[in-house]
Amino acid sequence: MKFATSTFTVLALTLAVVKAQVQIKIDATKYPALQGTPDVKHPQVQAWLKEIDLTGAPTFALRKGAPPECPAKPDPAECIWTCDGCAQEDITACGAANTWGVTFDDGPSIYTPPLLDFLKQNKVPATFFLIGGNVIQNPDIVKRELDEGHHLASHTWSHSALTTLTNEQIVAEMKWTEKAVQEATGVRLKYMRPPYGDINNRVRFVLKKLGYKVVDWTGDEFDTKDWQIGASVTAVDASGKSSSHVYTETEALNHFKTSLDQYAASAKTKGFYCLEHDIKEVEVNFAKKLIPMGQQHQSDAQPYQEGGVMPPSGNKGNNTNAGNGNGNGTNNGNTTNPTIVHNKNGTDTKSAGIKSAGGLSVVIAAAAVAAGAILA
Ligand SMILES: [Zn+2]
Repeated sequence: MKFATSTFTVLALTLAVVKAQVQIKIDATKYPALQGTPDVKHPQVQAWLKEIDLTGAPTFALRKGAPPECPAKPDPAECIWTCDGCAQEDITACGAANTWGVTFDDGPSIYTPPLLDFLKQNKVPATFFLIGGNVIQNPDIVKRELDEGHHLASHTWSHSALTTLTNEQIVAEMKWTEKAVQEATGVRLKYMRPPYGDINNRVRFVLKKLGYKVVDWTGDEFDTKDWQIGASVTAVDASGKSSSHVYTETEALNHFKTSLDQYAASAKTKGFYCLEHDIKEVEVNFAKKLIPMGQQHQSDAQPYQEGGVMPPSGNKGNNTNAGNGNGNGTNNGNTTNPTIVHNKNGTDTKSAGIKSAGGLSVVIAAAAVAAGAILA
């Protein structure tokens, strides 16, 4: 008996060690260089290009810069979101008033795990817009994001401004990232955010052909400016005099507070997405202050977690989400999630929510819609 117990103990310990060592390995040699737009002549890219028909793509000249500067007079037909606010079918707001889509761009990075710890402790779901080159370096983190109920989306392979790339380069940027996330997690991405918010009708055409829905964010007021903390910024006063200073975390928090106040006072019919990042420690530390600020903000907000984005592993309920890539599906959420009906136009309708201590809603981006839409 003693022998049996010892054997069992050894076996259990061995299994524990093996479990701790299990890591997702991605062979980086099978992917493009971590930086830079992938080569469109690569056989894999050529195979992908054969799968889609880009005939009829708009032919606006490639823009220049990272990100490109806006033309003096933007062409309305080009519809560049960052230049004239033209968004077409891009998702720029959450479907329901008082809901807040928490999103993080540019990861995963070594600073993402402590952010995930924080989100878990505070039961805050988020959407992570992933860079493919970072995914193959940190596949375990991406898997953890999914396993902990977050929504995964694409932020391209190399974070290039898409209006500066050819149609074929855009395909390469998207498909390599899609492949990397699929290898790390088994799910296929269906939502994307263009780096710098840089998008026009040509880029939209290509993304649509690839089956992607585009997610921007809710205007400058909900760009949290976390990326700017610690950087030198130049301000121009009323007299036209300019001066520079280092942008502080306090300034960024005040900026968000002002945006929340304005939102709470507005005749709101939709919720908002804020733009955050998880590529620098300062950004993650900032998120730990910004999220409680939003949750505690006095408004009539009704917090809820969107059920539609819960992957099967994180959803104890009956997920009947028939997501089809058009953001159309119905999710029977679990006991902590409301029932969300995802409309064809990318908005969502919620039937119930979780009341919390009177803060703003925290909701996975409406963009995050259907879990079924992202599952392979
Ligand atoms: Zn970015």
